[in-house]
Amino acid sequence: MSTAWAGGTDAILERMEQMTNLFIEEQRKSMYAGESATHCEECGEPIPESRRQAIPCKYCLACQSELEKQSR
Ligand SMILES: [Zn+2]
Repeated sequence: MSTAWAGGTDAILERMEQMTNLFIEEQRKSMYAGESATHCEECGEPIPESRRQAIPCKYCLACQSELEKQSR
């Protein structure tokens, strides 16, 4: 954990936590539904089948890592 958010308020941290929980919840839901998009919902790039089989996902690797960066 970095202290980059040291200047932030508890409210920001709380919101980030909520967003992270929402993100996890979304992943969990799509996992239960067995849904896996064939194309990235963000950029429309096809998602490799190996990736879709490994984990139900809606985004390509690039967008996924971008989203994970944002949720940090
Ligand atoms: Zn994408």
